[in-house]
Amino acid sequence: MSALEQTRHLATAVPGPKSQELQARRSAAVAQGVSSTLPVFVTRAGGGIVEDVDGNRLIDFGSGIAVTSVGASAEAVVRRASAQLADFTHTCFMVTPYEGYVAVAEALAELTPGDHAKKTALFNSGAEAVENAVKIARAYTGRQAVVVFDHGYHGRTNLTMALTAKNMPYKHSFGPFAPEVYRAPLAYPYRWPTGADNCGPEAAEAAIDRISTQIGAENVAAIIIEPVLGEGGFIEPAKGFLPALREFASAHGIVFVADEIQSGFCRTGQWFACEDEGIVPDLITTAKGIAGGLPLAAVTGRAEIMDAAHPGGLGGTYGGNPVACAAALGAIETMKELDLNARAKRIEEVMKGRLTAMQEKFDIIGDVRGRGAMIAIELVTDRATKEPNPKATAALAKACHAEGLIVLTCGTYGNVLRFLPPLVIGEDLLNEGLDIIEEAFARI
Ligand SMILES: *Cc1c(COP(=O)(O)O)cnc(C)c1O
Repeated sequence: MSALEQTRHLATAVPGPKSQELQARRSAAVAQGVSSTLPVFVTRAGGGIVEDVDGNRLIDFGSGIAVTSVGASAEAVVRRASAQLADFTHTCFMVTPYEGYVAVAEALAELTPGDHAKKTALFNSGAEAVENAVKIARAYTGRQAVVVFDHGYHGRTNLTMALTAKNMPYKHSFGPFAPEVYRAPLAYPYRWPTGADNCGPEAAEAAIDRISTQIGAENVAAIIIEPVLGEGGFIEPAKGFLPALREFASAHGIVFVADEIQSGFCRTGQWFACEDEGIVPDLITTAKGIAGGLPLAAVTGRAEIMDAAHPGGLGGTYGGNPVACAAALGAIETMKELDLNARAKRIEEVMKGRLTAMQEKFDIIGDVRGRGAMIAIELVTDRATKEPNPKATAALAKACHAEGLIVLTCGTYGNVLRFLPPLVIGEDLLNEGLDIIEEAFARI
């Protein structure tokens, strides 16, 4: 097959007639609970481009939600996964093991923060990894309570719905939720009442007070936090917040879990976002970017914590599937070879430069934030009141889609436009995407 041309091309309206036909079939056959941001049906994707059935080539600022950081058809991923497919598709690691699983565990031990002895268990999805981190932390500590934060997102299974903050669309009508989950305030700099400068220490004090008075530190198994929040609005907790929680966890025998499912694997310009403040988590959950698009997730952490669960207590039929493991080794090879951390930092430089300039021109841009290739703008009706502006956010996303740019929204108030380009995107496409965003603002 010929290489996918790395240019935007609009052959029809977006979505075009063939996509609309497929959408009609989809509506009849697929549950409406599973929705799509942009109903164009894909034929090929790679680099910074997604091609659809109508021959449109869209610029990808979504990476399938931070998954295809190495691209959607990266050479090393395709090569290694294809070879594995030909050899065997599955044996179940719990029945007869294979080397790929072990090699992924070794790679995770090498790449994750901290030089202590580490072990890993592999799963299929991010939610499954988070659930297992909770199982492991509870087995290790003999405690039950789990602390999570405002705006946090950890998945859609029953336990992870309980851990997730936002009701619509993730939790609404799906209760009752798992018990022993407690929510603490988050250091959200843009919306902290006394200002961004006070946010880190004040929020840490409030969170620690909440834990101490309402739960009791001695009852807490785990504190789980995203070092840069994803679905909740690409919020970077104010400096000092994560170190204070890390220290509190250590002082009270609480397992500190970094959920790096969205922020990990070069996305923020470091292998893991918690490195930014030198945080060494006890456990780290990974998924999304780990395997170039194949379903794989992991819990990695201190060997003595990981080994607290008894033999047979962890696992799953497909966890650490050999094809997904081969893909992960290909993705990691690509990240190292192309130095995708450096690429993510360059993407930040280009995007923040352009978006900050737009903020000067367009009053509704309240905040420009994020790290690496995990960048967002928060839209407000008025900069003084900071009232969220989900209407403009939806309208802008729609305008970008019509021009052939895939963008996603997020945030507790639905007022954040987020940008997650593949780290291998060409700089011309990156700038063209930003041109489309700027034109959309000018029109609104
Ligand atoms: C996406 C995500 C999850 C859930 O991962 P799934 O693979 O969708 O189950 C958990 N935590 C964070 C931070 C995520 O971004």
